[in-house]
Amino acid sequence: MNIIIPIKQVPETSNVKMDPETGTMIREGLVSIINPLDLFAIELGIVLQEEAGGSTTVLSMGPPKAAEALREAMAMGCTDGILLSDRKFAGSDTWATSYALAQAIRKNGDFDLVICGERATDGDTGQVGPGIAAWLDLPVATYVSRLVENRPGSLVVERLVEDGYETLEVEKPCVLTVVKEAAYPRLPTLRGKQRARKTELPVWGAVDIDADPAALGLKGSPTRVVKINTPKVTRSGDIRTAGDPAELEAAVDDLVAYLEKIDLV
Ligand SMILES: Cc1cc2nc3c(=O)[nH]c(=O)nc-3n(C[C@H](O)[C@H](O)[C@H](O)COP(=O)(O)OP(=O)(O)OC[C@H]3O[C@@H](n4cnc5c(N)ncnc54)[C@H](O)[C@@H]3O)c2cc1C
Repeated sequence: MNIIIPIKQVPETSNVKMDPETGTMIREGLVSIINPLDLFAIELGIVLQEEAGGSTTVLSMGPPKAAEALREAMAMGCTDGILLSDRKFAGSDTWATSYALAQAIRKNGDFDLVICGERATDGDTGQVGPGIAAWLDLPVATYVSRLVENRPGSLVVERLVEDGYETLEVEKPCVLTVVKEAAYPRLPTLRGKQRARKTELPVWGAVDIDADPAALGLKGSPTRVVKINTPKVTRSGDIRTAGDPAELEAAVDDLVAYLEKIDLV
């Protein structure tokens, strides 16, 4: 079974700061990590490949630095990696990103399954997985929480829906986007890290994937960001300090009266 796992390198969320003047993310000095939700896709891919044989290829579109994310996934157990890196990809929105990834998947040859994370913690749209499926004209199951059965021509999956779970049978080849419940990611091993360091990591540009230049980068991106702003969180209120038990009691009485007024007790 040949499995492709698109992964994105993102800034470590706890460090993200926005520039209040420009409204853009301050990327300088940020530590980059594998999109945390992609670890579940990686793990599910490795488990399936260990059971059924074949390959697990991690694929990332990003700057040369994204090779680190690919090598980390290979240290976890993925057999191969491909980096899509070219200035022509810069400025791509989810439409152009999913197009480039789909072209790379086509170019890489036969595959049975594409597993994406649920969403990226920075862009946060959750559109790239379904986008890849649309470009490749494949069935897609989103929010997959469990792989029930790997049948010869199909997969039976359970997916998270608003009021519970639903079970679906999806014909292979197909695209899945997975949620946290789908797998429990393993840690990279020392042997895995050594193997990942030695494995060749092809770097493909726009020409290598036979991409239409007009469909890439800012030119190929129909999304226009009109305005970005960070909402200011302000808290006002009645701050009470209780110096003695009587003041404390009065403050508690006032609080209970307020909660009753707004129907909370
Ligand atoms: C006009 C515009 C310009 C932009 N310019 C840039 C830019 O120059 N540089 C930049 O980094 N971002 C840019 N972005 C953001 C970029 O479009 C998105 O981050 C990217 O398309 C992925 O979307 P997302 O983060 O919402 O991913 P989601 O759809 O939330 O991700 C879902 C899953 O898709 C897969 N995936 C997503 N992105 C990638 C990837 N790059 N490689 C492999 N797998 C992936 C992963 O499995 C991930 O879990 C731009 C956005 C807009 C609207």
